Amino acid sequence: RKQQSIPKAQYGGRHAVSMLPGGGIGPECMGYVRDIFKYIGAPVDFEVVDIDPNVDNDDDVQYAITTIKRNGVGIKGNIETKSEAAYVTSRNVALRNELDMYAYVLNCKSYPGVSTRHKDIDIVIIRQNTEGEYAMLEHESVRGVIESMKVVTASNSERVARFAFEYAKRNGRKKVTTVHKANIMKLSDGLFLETSRRLAKEYPDIEHNDMIIDNCCMQLVARPHQFDVMLMTNLYGSIVSNVVCGIIGGAGLLSGRNYGDNYAVFEPGTRNTGTAIAGKNIANPIAMINASVDMLEHLGHHYHADLLRSAVNRTINVDRILTSDCGGTASSTDVVNAIKENANLIANKLPFK
Ligand code: ADP
Ligand code: MG
Repeated sequence: RKQQSIPKAQYGGRHAVSMLPGGGIGPECMGYVRDIFKYIGAPVDFEVVDIDPNVDNDDDVQYAITTIKRNGVGIKGNIETKSEAAYVTSRNVALRNELDMYAYVLNCKSYPGVSTRHKDIDIVIIRQNTEGEYAMLEHESVRGVIESMKVVTASNSERVARFAFEYAKRNGRKKVTTVHKANIMKLSDGLFLETSRRLAKEYPDIEHNDMIIDNCCMQLVARPHQFDVMLMTNLYGSIVSNVVCGIIGGAGLLSGRNYGDNYAVFEPGTRNTGTAIAGKNIANPIAMINASVDMLEHLGHHYHADLLRSAVNRTINVDRILTSDCGGTASSTDVVNAIKENANLIANKLPFK
C-alpha cells in the first residue's frame, strides 16, 4: 500500500489544517479545540470553512474540498444538507467521495472512567467509505418503483481490505472479521467477502473470519470481546460504528478517521450533528477533541498528541469529570477546563520537548 502522504510542515514547523465546523454542536466543539490548541501551543493553524446548509448549490463544498486538497488534512463536524431536493446530495458523502477517502477507521476503546455494561473493549472498525449503499444512485424507474443502487467494486473492496490487514499487521492485532450479508446479496457482498478472503491469504499471521451483519449486531451487544479488527461495507459500517459507540458510552466520546492515499479528515466517530443539544453547554466535547488528537498524531506532532491524549484520559478516568451523556454532571466547558488543567499538570512533569 502506498504510504499515506503527510503534508510537510511550513516555516516554524507549523501545519495548516482545514476546519469545517458543520452544524449543530460542531461550531462550539471546534471552539473548544482551538482554545485547547492555543493553550497547549499546538503548532497548527486552522483555515475555517463554513458551509451554509440552506444553499442548494455546492460552491461551499467545492471550496472546502479545494482547501483540504491544499492543506492535505482536515477536521470536521457533521455538515447538514437542509434541502430535500433529490439532486442535492449529502455534503459529507460528496466530500469523502471527491477526496477519495476510501477507508474509515474507528478505534473503539473503553474508558475505565465511563461506566458501561461491558468493560475493556478494544475494537477497530474499518469501513469502506466511498461506495456501497452510499453510491447515491436512486431513481424512480416507473411510477411507484424506486431503485437504489449499491455499488461494490473489486478495486475499492481490495483497497479497504488491504488497509484493514495492513492496519492489523502494523498495530499488532490478531484477527480481522469481515462483516457482510453475502447470503442475500450474493454478488455485491459476495465480491467484498471474496476479496477479503483472498487478501487474508497474504497475511498468514492474522486470523480471518467472517460474520453475517445481523448475527454480528447480536454478538456485539452480547459478547463484544470476541472482536478485534472489523472490516465492512459502508452502511454496515455506519450502523455497527454506532452500536459500538453506544456500548462504550455514546456519541460523545470516540473519534473517527477518513483516509485516502492523499488526504485525511478527522471527525467525531458517530458523525452526529447534535442539533437538539447545540448551544446549551451540555454536549460532550471529547469526541471532537479526540479527533484533534488523531489529527496531531497524523501530522507527526507526537508531543502535543500525547499531551492532549493523556489530559483527556486523566479527565475521564481519574477526575471523572463527565457530561450527562456519560452519567456525569459537568458542562462542556467544565470538561474543557479540566483538560486544560490536566495538560498543564502533565506538561510540567514531561521532559522538555
Ligand atoms: P443525527 O445527526 O444522526 O441525526 P443526532 O445529532 O440526533 O444524530 O445525535 C444522536 C444522539 O446522540 C442525540 O441524542 C444527541 O443528543 C446525541 N449526541 C450526539 N453528539 C453528542 C455529544 N457530543 N454529546 C452528547 N450527546 C451527543
Ligand atoms: Mg440529527
